[in-house]
This record gives sequence, C-alpha cells and structure tokens, in this order.
Amino acid sequence: MKVLVVNCGSSSVKYTLFEMTSEKKVAWGLIECIGLPQAFYKRQTINSAEKKEAVKVTSHTEAVELIIKGLLDKETGSIKNINEITVIGHRIVHGRDKFSESVLVTKTVKKGLKECFSIAPLHTPAHYAGILAVEKMLPGVPSVLVFDTAFHQTMPDYAYMYALPYEFYEKDHIRRYGFHGTSHNYVSQRAAVMLGKSLDKLNLITAHLGNGSSITAIEKGKVIDTSMGFTPLQGVVMGTRCGDIDPAIIAYLVGEYPEYKDGSVLNDLMNKKSGLAGISGLSADMRAIIQASSEGNKRATLAFKMLTYSIKKYISAYYGILNNIDGLIFTAGMGENSAIVRETSCKNLNALGIEIDVQKNNERSSEERFVSTENSKVKIMVIPTNEELMIAREAKKVLGG
Ligand code: AMP
Repeated sequence: MKVLVVNCGSSSVKYTLFEMTSEKKVAWGLIECIGLPQAFYKRQTINSAEKKEAVKVTSHTEAVELIIKGLLDKETGSIKNINEITVIGHRIVHGRDKFSESVLVTKTVKKGLKECFSIAPLHTPAHYAGILAVEKMLPGVPSVLVFDTAFHQTMPDYAYMYALPYEFYEKDHIRRYGFHGTSHNYVSQRAAVMLGKSLDKLNLITAHLGNGSSITAIEKGKVIDTSMGFTPLQGVVMGTRCGDIDPAIIAYLVGEYPEYKDGSVLNDLMNKKSGLAGISGLSADMRAIIQASSEGNKRATLAFKMLTYSIKKYISAYYGILNNIDGLIFTAGMGENSAIVRETSCKNLNALGIEIDVQKNNERSSEERFVSTENSKVKIMVIPTNEELMIAREAKKVLGG
C-alpha cells in the first residue's frame, strides 16, 4: 500500500510517497518559489540521488501536475499507474474549531475548509488548490485532510479562551488553537513506545523547538494546553517571532509609528523581524547565535538566554497544570540537535524531578534516545519528529487501513 503525502505551503508544494508496509519513503521532493519567474523542482527517490532543476510553475495546480508526472515517469518515476496510490494525505495548517480530527475529503469537507480561509489566508487557499489539483491528476483516489490544529482540540475551554469580550469568540472564532499538532502527536506516541506504557496512562510535555516552536501539555494522551495560540505567533521566543509580549505594546506601536497602522506591517515586525533575529540583530538561526555568543557577542547571548528561559517557563508551568509528568520530549531542529538548548532549558528543574544527564545529552545521534539521569523522576527524551509519516498513518487510518 502506497500513500502520497502532499504539503502545499503558500508558495511551495512538498511531497513524500510512502510504502506503508515498511513505512519507508519511496520518493520525496518539493517545488518552491511557485509564481516567481523561476521556480525550483527538487526530487529524490529511494534509488536515486537528488535532482534539482529550474522550472516555470505559476500555480499550485501546475506544481501538483508536475509532481504526479514525475512520479509516473517511465525512467525515473516510482509508480507505473496512479492506482498504486491508495490514498493521499494532505497537511492542513488550520482547521479552526471545525475539524478536530483527520477527515476524508467530501463536498461538505471542502465547503468547511473554505470557511477556514480567513483564519489562515496564506496557507488554506493553497491547501485547497492542492486538493483540487490532486483530484484532477489522481481521479478516484481518496484524499484525507490532516490538520496541524486537530490534536489540540481536546483543550478545555478555560485553556483555549482569551479573556476578551465573549462575542469575539462567537463571531470571529478568536481562541487558542495551537499548531505543530501532527508533530506533538507523533512524538507523544513514540514516547509511549519508549516508556513501554500506554499513552492514556502518561502525562507528557512535548517541546517542538524549530524555527517556530511550541510546547504542549498532554494529560493521558490528550492535549490540555499548548503555547501557540490563535496564530503561531504566541508562546516561546522563536527564530523570527516574538512569542508572548504584552498586547498593549501593539496599541503603543500603532499610536507612535504611522507605518504600524497597517496591520500587515505590524504582523511582519512580530512574525519576521523579532525573536532571535530581532534581539541579536544577527540571525534567526540558533547555530549562528550559539557561535556568536561563544565569540562574546552580548546580544546573541541575550537572545539565547531569552529563548531558553521562555522554554523553561513553559515547561515549569505545564508541570504545574499536569501535576506530575512522566516524560519531557524534545523534538524538531533545535530540540533534536542542540544539546546546549536542551541542557539550559532543563537547568535547575531538579525540584520537579527533571534531571538531564549532561554526558548523554552531549552525545550526537539522530536516533530516539533518553538523555535524563538514572535518578531523574521525569524521563527526558529526544525524539526526531516525522510529520510526513504521521500524516501518511492518519490517511491510512481514516481509510480504515
Ligand atoms: P526546524 O525549523 O525544525 O528545521 O529547526 C530549525 C532550527 O533548528 C534553527 O534555529 C537551527 O539553527 C536549529 N538547529 C538545527 N541544528 C542545530 C544544531 N546542531 N545546533 C543548534 N541549533 C540547531
């Protein structure tokens, strides 16, 4: 059984074809810079090295067409016939409060997805175009939508509501949604396997620390709180996003600077020019920040301290609301690869039973592993995330496979 995972971003389409018996990737790649004078098509298969070519692709529809043709190519393709693909899993960034689990695409589902356009205007129309393009290129092959927000839909109302006048929730659906749900879901399932217990018997904190970061409190397999909010801007300090700030700062900026009266300029400031990049004035990349800090750059050191301090605050707060935790999981670019980020974020949390083993933590590996001391009450784990595989599993599950 083969499952194709499609991830349509605002100007890119990524794809992975899985053979589900082995859960191995058969073919993968992406088309980026869609709509620009020159787009790029990168592709690779289990049997061939990466190929990259410049292409002219003006829409998501054209991108999907090119990808499917590539998969079917007689010489370099991975399938002979479209019927070899059993189901397509689409990554969808935002399902609002309409979608609390993965769903099979039907007319009603597509209508519901259209109603989510305004809440993620850069992504959802691109997802929608991708769904239509796949339907055109792979007629008769079912599609399943897998939402980044769905895993967080178990949060109680007192955790997802903002204390604004209630009508903004009713009219504009303003509430906390949370993101990276597919990743938090995947690593929590892997953690249960590593701990040898059923997920519904475990309390976990999962820290997805990449360029965008979010931390989630999971009680007996169900999310009860998460750091990202109405959008992925809230929460810990990120690569270019400010994370939590006093919302009155926004009103202040609008009052003081004419350019910020334009909401999109203000959004740009908080989403693209803040975080590690804004504080250091150097880079949004944690590797560059660590390097500059080691060379004595004070603002890089400050950016590092702010980011790890904000992670530590969320871990401590979520420990408090969970009362007791079995595992703390680090994943994504920084979480998987930066020993110093993990060590600093866990420092002096011994009172909570969180004790990192510095030596184990410093060992380089791309495998799932424990990095806590033997005596640590809370098991600290590093688990490489695999959102594509999770989407493929979800698609198979929805289809009844
Ligand atoms: P992601 O968005 O998951 O690809 O993660 C990107 C972030 O992970 C960037 O800030 C990278 O600098 C960071 N990252 C990746 N590898 C390392 C590493 N070895 N040390 C520190 N940060 C890393």
